[in-house]
Amino acid sequence: MTDRALPRVVIENAYIVPVAGPEIPAGHILVEGDRITAVGPGPAPAAPAEAVRVDGSGCLATPGLVNAHHHLYQWATQGLAPDGTLFEWLVASYPLWARMDAEVVNGAATAGLAWLAASGCTTTTDHHYIFPKGRGDLFDAEIEAAREVGLRFHPCRGSMDRGRSHGGLPPDEIVEDIDEILAATEDAIGKYHDPSFGSMLRVAVAPCSPFSVSGALMVRSAELARSHGVRLHTHIAESRDEDEHCLERFGVLPVEYLDRLGWLGPDVWLAHCVHLTDKDIRRFAETGTGTAHCPSSNGRLGSGVARVRDLLRAGAPVGLGVDGTASSEMTTLAGEIRTAMLTQRALHGPDALTARQALELATLGGARCLGREAEIGTLEPGKLADIALWRLDGFFAAIDDPVVALAYGATPPLARLMVGGRTVVEDGELRTVSGAEAARAGAAAHRRLTAALT
Ligand SMILES: [Zn+2]
Repeated sequence: MTDRALPRVVIENAYIVPVAGPEIPAGHILVEGDRITAVGPGPAPAAPAEAVRVDGSGCLATPGLVNAHHHLYQWATQGLAPDGTLFEWLVASYPLWARMDAEVVNGAATAGLAWLAASGCTTTTDHHYIFPKGRGDLFDAEIEAAREVGLRFHPCRGSMDRGRSHGGLPPDEIVEDIDEILAATEDAIGKYHDPSFGSMLRVAVAPCSPFSVSGALMVRSAELARSHGVRLHTHIAESRDEDEHCLERFGVLPVEYLDRLGWLGPDVWLAHCVHLTDKDIRRFAETGTGTAHCPSSNGRLGSGVARVRDLLRAGAPVGLGVDGTASSEMTTLAGEIRTAMLTQRALHGPDALTARQALELATLGGARCLGREAEIGTLEPGKLADIALWRLDGFFAAIDDPVVALAYGATPPLARLMVGGRTVVEDGELRTVSGAEAARAGAAAHRRLTAALT
C-alpha cells in the first residue's frame, strides 16, 4: 500500500490495550502513513494540525484481530449436515464443493471478508484446497475479493491428492495430481507472495489434511515452501476419526506423523490441534509450531476442546480462527475470543484463560502464527496501523473493565477499523465496499452453487 492517499490520523481519549505493555486508560495513537508513530497517555503532543482527529471517548482501542484459519468459499454452503461429525459433514459437503467456480469463490469471499472486517479483523488467512478443473482461477478470485474489502491477506494454496480409491476421504473427482499441485502452488507464490514489511498479501503452502493428502505431497510441499521462504499450514488432530485413520494407515497419531514428515517448526502453523498428547505439546513448544484454535467449529462438529491452556503454559504460539462458515456459521472473530475463554473455563475453571489472554490469542497469537509479530498484533510505534476501535458506551457502558466488555458478552460495535492506516470501517459501516452488496454477493454465490445441482 502506498502512503500517498493516507491522511495522518490521531485517535484520542481512548482506553488503549496495546497487548504489549501496560494499558492506557485515556490515551492517544498517532498514525502516519501505514504505521503507528506514537502511543501514549493524554492528548498526542506531536500530532500535526492537519491530522484527522478521531475522538475515542467511550471506546477501547486494540490491535486489529488476526484470523489464523478460514475457508472463505464455505460462505456458499452453510448449514449442511448440521448434526454431523467432521467426516460426515465433509462427505456431505464434497459433492457441492466440487461444483464451485471462480464466481462462487469471489462472491463467498467478498461476503466472508466483509463479515470479518465488520467484527474487528484486520488480517486474515484463508485455506483453499479444492480446485475443480475448468472453473476459472479460484485462487485469484479470493485475492481479488481481499483487495476490494481491504484486509491484509494470507491465502494458503491448499491441495488434496489422495481420493477415495487411494484410501482417502474425498471423492476422486476433487483431488489433483501431485505435480500439478506443486506447479500451481509455485506459480501462486511467484505471482502473489510479497515478503516485504507491511505486505498486504503473503501466500502459504497448505495441503489439506492427513486423510486427503499423500505423505509424498506433504514432504514435497514442505520442500517447496522452504525453498521459497513461505509458511506451511494444514489441518491436524481435529477429530478422533482422524486419530483412528492415522493409527490404521501410518501406525502413529497425527502430530507424530507430521513430525516424521518434517512438518513441525517455526514456519508452520496448524489448524485445530484438538487431540494432543503431552509429547505433542512439548514438541510444539520446542519447535515453535503454531496452533490456530477454532473453538466454535470444534464445538459444532463435536470434535472436542483444544488444550489451549496447556499449549500456552508450554510456551507454544496459539492464535484464533473462525474456520469456514460451513462448520461455524456466521462466527465472528471477536466472538471466538469469548468462546475460547468459555470453553477453557468450562473444562478447567475460571482461571484457565483470562479475557486479556484470550484477546492476546486473537491479536499477537495470530500474528505469531503468521510470522508477523514484528509488524502486527500489538499497538506500538513502528508497527503497522492495524487498529480496532470498539464502541463501549451505550449498552456496554455498565461494564467498567473495557477488556471484560469486549470479551465476556456480545461483540461491541466498531467505531473504526484501520488496516495499514486506511479506514475500512467507520461508525459500524464498511467504507471500502458496501456491506449490503457484500451480503448480496454471498447470497448469490450460495444460489449459484446450489442451482448447479439441479
Ligand atoms: Zn479448516
